[in-house]
Amino acid sequence: MDIRFVKREQLKEKPDQKNLGFGKYMTDYMFVMDWTKEDGWIDARIVPHEPISLDPACVTLHYAQETFEGMKAYRTKSGKIQLFRPEMNARRMIKSNERLCMPAFPEDMFVEAVKELVKVEKDWVPSEPGTSLYIRPFMFATESALGVHMASKYKFMVICCPVGAYYAEGINPVKILVEDELVRAVQGGTGFTKCGGNYAGSILGQVKAEKMGCTQVLWLDGVHRKYVEEVGTMNIMFKIGGEIYTAPIEGTVLPGVTRDSIIHILKDWGYKVNETHLAVDDLMKAGHDGTLEEAFGTGTAAVISPVGEFVYKDDIVKVNNFEIGKLTQKLYDYLTGIQWGDVEDKYGWTV
Ligand code: PMP
Repeated sequence: MDIRFVKREQLKEKPDQKNLGFGKYMTDYMFVMDWTKEDGWIDARIVPHEPISLDPACVTLHYAQETFEGMKAYRTKSGKIQLFRPEMNARRMIKSNERLCMPAFPEDMFVEAVKELVKVEKDWVPSEPGTSLYIRPFMFATESALGVHMASKYKFMVICCPVGAYYAEGINPVKILVEDELVRAVQGGTGFTKCGGNYAGSILGQVKAEKMGCTQVLWLDGVHRKYVEEVGTMNIMFKIGGEIYTAPIEGTVLPGVTRDSIIHILKDWGYKVNETHLAVDDLMKAGHDGTLEEAFGTGTAAVISPVGEFVYKDDIVKVNNFEIGKLTQKLYDYLTGIQWGDVEDKYGWTV
């Protein structure tokens, strides 16, 4: 790809690395490329991060034809910068785009765009423990025309922001509300994609959870509201009676890069991983009879997030006395070790 570069007059001041939060500070530059029906992908460029202008009739503002990805660049102790399985994000975006009738952004171009932008923004990759550069590729229809249809113009962009730990609590156990009324996804819908609409529809559940003192929502299947699916922005795994349980990838759950990596590692460590439908009643029962040993969410933003409590209707289950489980901690240390370059990457996942 030929990438045009437009220099910024003045670089921004970098924020305090000890106080980054999540998604607050945008870097100096962004990657942009346009797609038209006639020309395909054109005009790859890295330009100053600044507002873009859209016609109020831009179809995305009305019909939400938008997909996105989330990944990170990590700075190792020796100062090197690495990405974690970026091709997985590229492929997932292609799948999301297929479902939303949007053109594919080719895998090699996706990885190159991310690498080139991170190279330009290398000084923005923080070095404090637990910090990283969050990378947000996204794509949306830019055509101005009302009426629901497949658009003739799209934009692919990548923006970045240095981030600290996702949860204010750090890697401490969180409270999760099992949502028994609202649903996130059904078979045949868009649950497996990373499209903005999925998240817009989830905010009400999130607000409800926060009102009840919980950090996130655990979604149940959209038809029976019986089986456990995933958390707001994480997949979820349970250790019950020594075995691991997590929802299968069958169209409703997002195929997480972290989920896939953790399953690989767990199998290598000799664990039986059941990718199966776990009924919430069985989860709560396991919580009460003591067989639910650990529960944790997996996702790029939080990496591994231990669950300390599930609230479901009038029932509350505490997991491992609200303490971080041994396996949860071991997985967190191992995977973050690979990502930040402290542990040998025997899988060849880092780039
Ligand atoms: N489920 C949902 C709904 C998510 O938004 C995310 C975050 N991308 C995940 C799961 C975890 O996916 P990943 O491990 O690729 O970040």
